Amino acid sequence: MFDELVAANDRYAETFHLGGLSGQAARGLAIVTCIDTRIEPLAILGLAPGDAKIIRNAGGRATSDALRSLALATALLGVRAVVVMHHTRCALAGASESELRAALPEAVAGALPNPLLAMPDPDAALRGDVATIRSCAALPTEIATVGWRYDVDTGRIAQIVPQN
Ligand SMILES: [Zn+2]
Repeated sequence: MFDELVAANDRYAETFHLGGLSGQAARGLAIVTCIDTRIEPLAILGLAPGDAKIIRNAGGRATSDALRSLALATALLGVRAVVVMHHTRCALAGASESELRAALPEAVAGALPNPLLAMPDPDAALRGDVATIRSCAALPTEIATVGWRYDVDTGRIAQIVPQN
């Protein structure tokens, strides 16, 4: 598998066109989203490489590490607006923390730190993540934030939390 990836990179580099691109977010945007393989964050929102910082974790949650990345991206890399983009049919949505933990192999569940950040109420989780970002002391108060849910079956986003 890895050999195929290295070979694909050879082909990619032959026509590489992103050299010299700035590390600043050209559109001033950061997107916090899930690791889900069905999500193409740039394409979904009409963006190109260089436009936005993409911060991904399971669920697209406003974890301490997501906040660390947002703070650095805002202070150093030109980010002025944040989209928190959860999605439909997320493995973390619709189950309680204990239900999600019970679905894991026992050794895995036992070795994982709490919490798994399950989303029994997906809208509440999305509102909570946006609120966490809005109240983060490491982020400027004028940063614009929204909470959207991407539908993996239609490709459309639903606006759940309006801009502040
Ligand atoms: Zn997900």
